[in-house]
Amino acid sequence: MTEERPRRLAILGGRPAFPEPLVVGRPALGDRRALLRAIDRALGRRWLSNSGPAVRALEGRLASHLGVAHVVAVSSGTQALQLAARALDLSGEVILPSFTYVASAHALAWLGLRPVFCDVLPRAHTIDPARVGPLVTARTSAILGVHLWGTPCDTRGLERVAARHSLRLLFDAAHAFGCSHQGRMIGAFGNAETFSFHATKHFTTVEGGAVATDDGDVAARVRAFRRFGIDGRGQVSGPGTNATMSEICAEIGLAGLGRLGIIESGNRRRHQLYATRLAGLRGVRVLAFQENERQNCQFAVLETTQKAALTRDELLAALMADGVAARDYFAPGCHRLPPYRGRRHAALPVTERLSQTVLCLPTGPAVGLHEVRTVCDIIRSALGQADAVRLAVRARAGGTPSTTARGS
Ligand SMILES: *Cc1c(COP(=O)(O)O)cnc(C)c1O
Repeated sequence: MTEERPRRLAILGGRPAFPEPLVVGRPALGDRRALLRAIDRALGRRWLSNSGPAVRALEGRLASHLGVAHVVAVSSGTQALQLAARALDLSGEVILPSFTYVASAHALAWLGLRPVFCDVLPRAHTIDPARVGPLVTARTSAILGVHLWGTPCDTRGLERVAARHSLRLLFDAAHAFGCSHQGRMIGAFGNAETFSFHATKHFTTVEGGAVATDDGDVAARVRAFRRFGIDGRGQVSGPGTNATMSEICAEIGLAGLGRLGIIESGNRRRHQLYATRLAGLRGVRVLAFQENERQNCQFAVLETTQKAALTRDELLAALMADGVAARDYFAPGCHRLPPYRGRRHAALPVTERLSQTVLCLPTGPAVGLHEVRTVCDIIRSALGQADAVRLAVRARAGGTPSTTARGS
């Protein structure tokens, strides 16, 4: 082992620690030959779409993995949300957190539903059930909870509010594949839950998603909607769209299922290393996950606190200069994005604060433990030289490399 000399921060004129940027959410496709064999299997069958054997096998495997009666595979997480919303007959207004990826809100708005933004819990970052009630109107049809970072929503609290106001309860579980809650896998809570299998997600089919539900009617409706309204008897039973998952995507998913345990334990090690190395560092805190539940640890979430010598944005600029493409998920909150930003919203103080203090650090199978240590060193060093870093960030203002689109 060679002892490394302290590195000079790139923002202060040093050479970047990562000349090739270290990104959040680099796809982890694993053994490429296994993948090509899987694709070859699909090609060999000459059955490439329309719920072939691979899609059906994937749905079966996912249903047993999640302990839920029905899983319907679709072409994206967005389609999963939209088809589930249609299958549950949602109308009017749907209450959801603003602190989420914009797709949660857009999926509803695209259907003509009105997203009504609710604040989140300060520690868990998930929708605050106590803030839902005051937002309910005669037009509200549902609550859409988001298990942000794989942290489960307060499902009991939300079930109570939903029951009190006769609302449907839907969960966007795009971050929560492989996570458990109260000893059950996420996927079977509420009326339905939706997953994204996009290339940047924990489990991927490149593009894809699924609706999970214990309700056979909802599952049957989603199945029909995903393919032009064609029902189980092969008849057009009503309106529908095309949101089928291809056989190639399903094969990629099947090939990846077996590796999830390894990815999860690697993520956990990276997360623990971040937590240990940054523990006691004044002004930052790593979001902890519940130890007694399964967690995919897909996100390593850092929060700057009031005691931090640098703002989140200053710290991010220092990291970016060193080639650490950390992300300011989710800034701004959805309520500040078009088309929602012109509308009246309830006060969302926690969302406003989190969108200025949260930072997602690089993790996932493409990130080594040594790289995690380097990222921690950069954070420690930046906070230790806060005044110099702040001046350098200001001097660069305007020329700071901005974060790019989703890293896939
Ligand atoms: C990724 C994501 C989506 C959208 O999934 P796609 O498969 O990209 O359509 C929805 N909600 C959240 C919270 C996400 O992170």
